[in-house]
Amino acid sequence: MSIDIRIGHGFDVHAFGDGDHVMLGGVRIAHDRGVLAHSDGDVVLHALCDAMLGALALGDIGIHFPPSDARWKGADSRAFVRQCDALLHERGWRVGNCDITVICERPKVGPHAQAMREVIADDLGIDVDAVSVKATTTETLGFTGRREGVAAQAVCLLVRT
Ligand SMILES: [Zn+2]
Repeated sequence: MSIDIRIGHGFDVHAFGDGDHVMLGGVRIAHDRGVLAHSDGDVVLHALCDAMLGALALGDIGIHFPPSDARWKGADSRAFVRQCDALLHERGWRVGNCDITVICERPKVGPHAQAMREVIADDLGIDVDAVSVKATTTETLGFTGRREGVAAQAVCLLVRT
């Protein structure tokens, strides 16, 4: 029996460092910190890539875009999303829908969630209705509560092309 759906999950964290903005979901958000990362440190898109790769058991973003590779220094993570999507399409799959939760105390994510949905839908070539971006805090607890970094979780469903 062949199964015509696959599910994947992704999780990512980056610590804050010096800087004046963070990239979340492909959207530049002004902040009093930046993130420490080899690429642009976009936890939303990294979690999404891991969910997409995970759905087909293709490993993770670190395998496909290793930090040791100078090509990815300061990379726009939207390129990772598009490359992961191409991998899925090569194998006869596409993202049916995805649901992403951003976890941080600051910056405030809610006002940017719609813009993130539009970026992701554009990169995946799917309807905005199929892309959910939600934001939550950890009620001041833990590293996100202490404003030391930002985390994101993603799940995605793949369907046959
Ligand atoms: Zn990351």
